[in-house]
Amino acid sequence: MGRRQGNLYLLDSSVFRSISSVFVVDNNTSAHVNKLWHFRLGHPSNVKLSVLKPHLQLQSNGNTNLSCSICPLAKQKRLSFDCHNNLSLSLFDLIHCDIWGPFHIPTHDGFRYFLTIVDDCTRNTWVHLLRAKSDVNTIFPQFFSMVKTQFGLTIKAVSSDNAPELNLSNLFTQLGVLHFFSCVETPQQNSVVERKHQHILNVARALYFQSNIPIGYWGDCVLTSVYLINRIPSPLLNNKTPFELLHHRSPSYSHLKSFGCLCYSSTLPSTRHKFSPRALPCVFLGYPFGYKGYKILDLETNRIFVFRNVIFQESVFPFKLSQNNNSVASDFFSEKVLPVVPVSTPSPSFDNSTSHPNSSDSSSNDTSPHTTSHTTTGSSRVSQPPKYLSDYHCYLASSTPRFDISNSTPYPLSDVISYNKLSPFFRAFSISISTITKPTTYAKTVVVPEWQHAM
Ligand SMILES: [Zn+2]
Repeated sequence: MGRRQGNLYLLDSSVFRSISSVFVVDNNTSAHVNKLWHFRLGHPSNVKLSVLKPHLQLQSNGNTNLSCSICPLAKQKRLSFDCHNNLSLSLFDLIHCDIWGPFHIPTHDGFRYFLTIVDDCTRNTWVHLLRAKSDVNTIFPQFFSMVKTQFGLTIKAVSSDNAPELNLSNLFTQLGVLHFFSCVETPQQNSVVERKHQHILNVARALYFQSNIPIGYWGDCVLTSVYLINRIPSPLLNNKTPFELLHHRSPSYSHLKSFGCLCYSSTLPSTRHKFSPRALPCVFLGYPFGYKGYKILDLETNRIFVFRNVIFQESVFPFKLSQNNNSVASDFFSEKVLPVVPVSTPSPSFDNSTSHPNSSDSSSNDTSPHTTSHTTTGSSRVSQPPKYLSDYHCYLASSTPRFDISNSTPYPLSDVISYNKLSPFFRAFSISISTITKPTTYAKTVVVPEWQHAM
């Protein structure tokens, strides 16, 4: 927490800030377990956590009155207008839909909007990330087909606001679907999806603040929040979950982990030798649609994988420890953007054709990681040199530093050491001193002319 300087111990405020937001392991085991589930489930209220106690195998006398430093930052007050509380009698009699966005910072894979679809009967929710609003032209027919194939049902009516992109009159007429519009300037009439949007954003913000993940991953926060919301009981549904009403069985909770935490994935035997590490440090990014595995971000390569064999350290949030981005979001997420150092080598892009990566929730299966999955995807996540390098002189040699060293450490070495005043020749000489390596065997020595001369 601090360090000694003379006879004083200086409190390192940056460390203090990061630790205060990571959940603190206390001595009370039941309180610790409750807090762990609070994080895993996207920061539900104490009341909802109490309802889930039997499913989570929490002690009945465990204290669920949690104090959480993330919740006040993330949760907006509920909308004040009366909501539509009368549920339809049958699945897919009526769906509500709305588009959110554009968000001024696109996701790492280029999405700026999301489409939310809510089934009125069960309040089960589907979210699709969109690059443009016109993407709904392809998503809606796919959604209608999914409902037909997976549930053997037909959507009878759609409710939306007056967004022109959602006025798919040709499609609806062709399918015999009724389309109800809310009146102009009265979003209250679209209250089901409006409230759902607010709930999604509340949970997504909580996941974002909890993990301090780069803002380019806001799409993963949204997708994960919907995955969790569908598994949280609601008083409106008599304390049942949307998942339960849709699939007629309880969801599984045993595979849930804290979003954004540190995890380790096994390296592939084909790519390692005897002394290679057996696991790679990664960050947990959620539950991919259609895979029984975890979506994880490799911290060294910035690539995204879906992996089954993952070991989690749920009390460690790597981005929380590496940055101090704890500013309060003024709209959806924080305005703060990562330091921009583009990844030099483009990675292969995710294959969207084989699954529904935008849909946060499976229509038929409760994915829990039991079978091997193997999808990899490229990521354009901005990267920066490891923080520990900022205390060494390796980035001081260039007259134009690759990143803003002054932001990465409280007392950067660059404040006191600089090579900028050296001539190009002497700067190159200084660097070369550091890069000479001593040969360790006679065989390696005799092939180097300078060493031959020295001998
Ligand atoms: Zn919380």
